[in-house]
Amino acid sequence: MSTGRRHAPGKMRRRFQEIPNLVFVRKPGRMADGRTRAAAVRQRVRWDSDRMFGVDFVLPRKARGPARAPSKPFPPPEPVVPVPETRREGDDPAGRLERLGKRVADCRSCSLAETRKNAVFGEGKPGADVMFVGEAPGADEDKQGRPFVGKAGQLLTKIIEAMGFSREDVYIANVLKCRPPDNREPAPAEAAACRPALEEQVEIVRPRVIVALGGHAFRTLTGATEAGITAARGRFGEYRGIPLMPTFHPSYLLRNEGGKRLVWEDMKKVLDRLGRKAPKKGKKG
Ligand code: URA
Repeated sequence: MSTGRRHAPGKMRRRFQEIPNLVFVRKPGRMADGRTRAAAVRQRVRWDSDRMFGVDFVLPRKARGPARAPSKPFPPPEPVVPVPETRREGDDPAGRLERLGKRVADCRSCSLAETRKNAVFGEGKPGADVMFVGEAPGADEDKQGRPFVGKAGQLLTKIIEAMGFSREDVYIANVLKCRPPDNREPAPAEAAACRPALEEQVEIVRPRVIVALGGHAFRTLTGATEAGITAARGRFGEYRGIPLMPTFHPSYLLRNEGGKRLVWEDMKKVLDRLGRKAPKKGKKG
């Protein structure tokens, strides 16, 4: 009887399944030119993606760090106080963000402080309608000290603009404020060390909606331990009383063109929640 699952999950296999007419090679072995079969298939995937989306859309493959963090589920968050609905008199959100940013820049709570070039605190408007939360800075972000400025960031900017905002209208942050070496996944201890800064950041920005970009942001913010982003996306959850929309990470979209339509569905729900409409193509809201 079919279980409904097509194949055992696997990062490579999932990536291959996006490519039409690609036969997945099961048996390891060598090609006539000495390459492994897997290397030959990977080459073919790169050619196919280049043809379909243009070279600019293809992310360089992530280098794999030797010390890949064990993917234990994050513990559920402590019970937390909802973010207050109104600001207190005398609040100075911009000043508070600046002071928090300085603390983050000096933070040495985990070993990522040893390898980072710059801490990447986040940027945008306190009081923004929407706060986007990603996973962790990559090489470009580490170099510039700003979130989402590489290829994935350019795609995020397009999504933001398609929603009728500019980057300055929203707030952009990450779960981790420092780049994990070799772009490996954040370790649970690193996410836990960064969590207080993220919580304070959300409390200061107090967005009307949070968009969690990818499974890491979704799990960190909601405490979900099981749900993957494919199952969770598109349905509002909440973080301390703030509606939270989980959706695919832009890096995933760079490798999986088909996900863009789904992310756009999710962003339309966000706009709906804000009482806004997506501008017609070419117009900014
Ligand atoms: N990916 C992220 O999750 N965050 C960034 O800032 C850049 C890439």
